[in-house]
Amino acid sequence: MAEKFTFTPTALADLKPNYDVVIIGSGGAGLTAAIQAHELGLNPVILEKMPKIGGNTTRASSGMNAAETNVQLHHHIVDSFGDFYGETLKGGGGMNNQALLKFFTEHSALAIDWLADHGIKLDDLTITGGMSVMRTHRPSSMAPIGGFLVTELLKQVAADQLPLFTDVKVDELLVEAGKISGVKATTPDGAVTITAGAVLLATGGFGANKTLLGQYRDDLKNYQTTNQPGATGDGILLAQAIGAKLVDMDQVQVHPTVQQDTDHAYLIGEAVRGEGAILVDNQGARFVNELDTRKNVTAAIDQLGGTGAYLIFDRGIRDRVKAVEFYDHIGLVKTGTDLEALATATGLDAATLKQTVADWNQAVANHNDAAFNRTTGMDRDIAAGPFYSIHIAPAVHYTMGGIAINPATQVLNQDERPIAGLFAAGEVVGGLHGNNRIGGNSIAETVIFGRQAGQQMFKYLQ
Ligand code: ADP
Repeated sequence: MAEKFTFTPTALADLKPNYDVVIIGSGGAGLTAAIQAHELGLNPVILEKMPKIGGNTTRASSGMNAAETNVQLHHHIVDSFGDFYGETLKGGGGMNNQALLKFFTEHSALAIDWLADHGIKLDDLTITGGMSVMRTHRPSSMAPIGGFLVTELLKQVAADQLPLFTDVKVDELLVEAGKISGVKATTPDGAVTITAGAVLLATGGFGANKTLLGQYRDDLKNYQTTNQPGATGDGILLAQAIGAKLVDMDQVQVHPTVQQDTDHAYLIGEAVRGEGAILVDNQGARFVNELDTRKNVTAAIDQLGGTGAYLIFDRGIRDRVKAVEFYDHIGLVKTGTDLEALATATGLDAATLKQTVADWNQAVANHNDAAFNRTTGMDRDIAAGPFYSIHIAPAVHYTMGGIAINPATQVLNQDERPIAGLFAAGEVVGGLHGNNRIGGNSIAETVIFGRQAGQQMFKYLQ
C-alpha cells in the first residue's frame, strides 16, 4: 500500500500582502494553474473558502476525456480530435463555444502528458455517454478520478511549497486604472487586501446556490444536488460586479443517476453504465439507451413519472468500477445471488427483470441493441452473480453557464474585450459544454484550461 498522503494548508500567519497571482479556488482548475504558473517562475497563492480542499473536483468519478493520446494507442484505440470535437458539439446541442471547444479538444492529449510528467498517470480507459470510443482516461486502479487527481496535484503543490490557504473567502475583485490589482478576502482573523498583477477565478459552479439557480431555472429549485456546499457561484458574481459578460446561465445539467434515498445525494458515476450496467423501470424493463447523453437519459427517467429507475449490473461490471465498493459500503447497493433474489430485494417484477437481462445479454452477444440502439458500454454482459441494483433519480449536477472567456482564459467584458489581468478556468466558465456536458469533460476542462491560465497569466505579467 502506498503511504497515505495528508496535505497541510499553509498557516494563516504566513499570508502575505502581495503575490504575482491570486488563484481563487482549490479544485482541479486552481491547483493545475498554480503548478503551471509556478513552473514558469511566478509566485502564486491559492485561496480556498472551505475548510476542505478540492471543491466539486473531488466528487468527480468517471475520468478525464482526451483524444489522440498515447494511452489510447496502447489500448489499440485510434481516435481523432475531430471526432472528439464533433461528438462534444453534438452532445452539447450544437450550442458550444466553438473556439473554446477547438482549443479544448486539441490540447487534451497534451494535458494527459502533462499530468504523466508530474507522475499522475491515467493509463486506463472507460467510456461515457455520447462518446463513440473509449477516451475517458482514469488511473489503472480504476479509482474515481476526482479524489485521485486532487491528491496527486496536492503532492505537487506540497513539493513546490506553494502557499494554499483554506477558510479564506474572496469577497471582491480590485481594479485600478482598468486593470485587476488584487482581491479583498475574509479570513478567520478578519478582512485582508491582497494585491496581485493577475487573478484567476477557479471558483467552480453554482449548483449549490438555490437562489441563483431559481433566478435562472425556477423549475430546478426543488431538485437535490450532487454539489459540495461551497459551489455557490461566487466567481460568477465577483466577475459580474466588475462588468464581465455571462453566458448560458440557464444551462444546468441534471445528472441522471443520483442515489438520493438518504439525506445526501450520491452521484453514481457514468462508468457503471460505461462498463455495462443497464437501467430498468420499477417493473424491471429497460426504457432508454443508457449511454445516450445525460440530457436524454434524464428526460427518459423523468418520463417514468417520479419513480426513478434502477441500475442493474453483475460482479464482472462491479469489478471494473471501484467506486461501487464505496456505494455498497454506505448502503446504496442491493444484492441478490440470482436475478430473482435481486428483483425481490429491489421490489421489481422478477419475470420482467429476468427477461430484460436475457434480452440484453443477447444484444451484447450480437452487438445489436435493436430495442434502444445502444452501441457502447457493451463489452460485457450481465451474467455472473451476485447481481446488484442501485435506485437512482436525476439531480442538479453541473452548471454549464458562467463567465465568458476567450481561448486564452481571459475574462471578457460586455463588449467581448478582455478585462486586463482577470482570468477564469473550470466550471466557473460558460460556453464550452453548450446545453449538455459530456461525462469526463469537466475534469478535462480543469486541467486543459488550468494549464492555459497558468501560461497566459505568465505571458500577461511579462
Ligand atoms: P473546478 O472543477 O472548476 O476546479 P471546483 O468546484 O472543483 O471547480 O473548485 C472550486 C473551488 O473554489 C471550491 O473548492 C470552492 O469552495 C472554491 N471557492 C468558491 N468560491 C470561493 C471564494 N469566494 N473564495 C475562495 N474559494 C472559493
